[in-house]
Amino acid sequence: MSQGVLAFTELVDGAFKTISFESISTAKAIADNIGGPLVAAVMGAGVTATASQAKEYGADRILVADHEELKAGQLDACIAAAAQLVEKADPAVVVIGSTAMGKDIAARLSARLGAPLAMDCVAVRVENGQVVATRPMYGGKVLADVSLTGSPAIVAIRPRAMEAVAAEGAGEVEAVTVDLSGVRVTLIEKQMETGKIELTEADVVVTGGRGMGGNDYSVVEALAKVLDGAVGASRSAVDEGWRPVSDQVGQTGKVVAPNLYVACGVSGAIQHLAGMASSRVVVAINKDPDAPIFAKCDFGIVDDLFAVVPAITAEVEKLKG
Ligand code: FAD
Repeated sequence: MSQGVLAFTELVDGAFKTISFESISTAKAIADNIGGPLVAAVMGAGVTATASQAKEYGADRILVADHEELKAGQLDACIAAAAQLVEKADPAVVVIGSTAMGKDIAARLSARLGAPLAMDCVAVRVENGQVVATRPMYGGKVLADVSLTGSPAIVAIRPRAMEAVAAEGAGEVEAVTVDLSGVRVTLIEKQMETGKIELTEADVVVTGGRGMGGNDYSVVEALAKVLDGAVGASRSAVDEGWRPVSDQVGQTGKVVAPNLYVACGVSGAIQHLAGMASSRVVVAINKDPDAPIFAKCDFGIVDDLFAVVPAITAEVEKLKG
């Protein structure tokens, strides 16, 4: 019978993304409740040395699929490997990050295994032995509790919604030979933007909307830099061609949950709020006092962003010495 919980991890440039530890910690909380081992799954090329770090978050077993074909997140190969790791661990529950890559893997795993899936979960609990996941619906207007019947129950958790909690696990590393001969897609080239903080993992996000008035984001970039944060954009700014799609926050963009979200020249449309409503502290800068964003922020500044943002940057620089 299926037992325990399997947590998938995600690596970039050979290092675990924070979502990996959030997934393992979420899996641990479930495993503590339903019983059975907590197993971490690590996939990639040259990842064996890094894999043992999963132990620091409570993993009892660490299954490692180390294969050249899994380099740089080659998706078809990762899904084939993920299915084999699930088969090997035979868990009652699978936890995975609801990242761009994790969403793909979760959905295709669910289809392959005929397993129930709750995507983009912001909380997970166990009730009477059954997994109950909380997930936003209708652009975040409603939080729905969904219970998952069937095995393995797959929960894809939203980055930064759960806490990564250090815990000591037995951490037995086990190499798993995966058969990727059926994979028909070959990765030829992958272009990564380097030196950029990933929006969904950022502790601080400074977003510029249509109020930026053009593609010169230097004031927003300077504030993000001094706060060690990432730059986001509204869809209007992306549609204008001022920022890449990868910067878009919102219903059809990325969902972020930083400790600090600074919205500059963003009106606060419901589709934008859907992507940042889980931020812990929201600061809005807008010259229209009636902008809807002011109803959703903790601190609001009614003024021209081109005067306010550089002043904040200068103050932060002063504080940092
Ligand atoms: P605007 O609404 O035009 O607001 C600009 C704001 O800047 C105004 O409030 C103005 O007062 C202020 N401003 C102007 N100049 C200054 C200045 N110098 N200083 C300070 N303030 C200034 N939107 C998203 O963002 N993300 C999504 O994922 C998304 N998905 C969508 C999906 C669907 C199906 C649909 C229909 C829409 C979606 N939208 C999304 C679009 C959304 O409805 C809004 O049109 C968009 O968010 C507006 O962007 P904005 O706030 O930058 O622009």
